[in-house]
Amino acid sequence: MISREAAKRWLFSFAEAIAAERELLTRLDADIGDADHGSNMDRGLKAVVDKLSQSEFPDLGGLLTTAGKVLISTVGGASGPLYGSLFLQMGLATAGKLEMSLDVFAAALRKGVEAVVRLGKAKVGDKTMVDALWPALEALEAAVASGVPDKEALLRAAEAAQAGMASTIPLVARKGRASYLGVRSAGHQDPGATSSHLLVRSALTLAGA
Ligand code: ADP
Ligand code: MG
Repeated sequence: MISREAAKRWLFSFAEAIAAERELLTRLDADIGDADHGSNMDRGLKAVVDKLSQSEFPDLGGLLTTAGKVLISTVGGASGPLYGSLFLQMGLATAGKLEMSLDVFAAALRKGVEAVVRLGKAKVGDKTMVDALWPALEALEAAVASGVPDKEALLRAAEAAQAGMASTIPLVARKGRASYLGVRSAGHQDPGATSSHLLVRSALTLAGA
């Protein structure tokens, strides 16, 4: 079961990964955007860590909703509202729960990823964070349905996110700032898909790994 403490660990681990890869995210965004994705995300996740460290939450929903609100108010750019909505919807999906099994986590993640798609209107192949998030969600759902241990299921999700991230390299961007470059966006890895891979990889902490 995934407790409130485990959910906090996931976000703290995501924050650590973003801090560690801040320069990479900035460099990727310098190639096809405006070089702020590393600083945007690092600012937001540091604020999430501050907020979650100071607060006790009655349920998973409150914790995840708070993370979403903090991200919306601190990250900025296109990615702030998108990541914020992901966590807000995960929070709605887990309202009133003290803990959740991995299939409930997967269902909540579906609500979150669907919110990103609804808000950003990007499909797989448009060279955005959706290229990492969507395959990760599908891999997680398939793994949960097949009954593999949680750690293995989360590992498969992380591998799918990584493959999805890499798949953005040859793509021409059709959404977001990178789309202004047209075909010149090809040959560069999408920064948002890269941070989304870190989000999914950090979820391995949910299995105590
Ligand atoms: P901005 O582009 O406003 O500077 P960031 O640099 O923080 O914002 O984030 C850029 C990332 O946001 C992109 O790499 C892409 O993955 C993601 N993104 C941008 N627009 C969309 C969209 N419409 N749908 C999904 N993701 C998007
Ligand atoms: Mg940017």
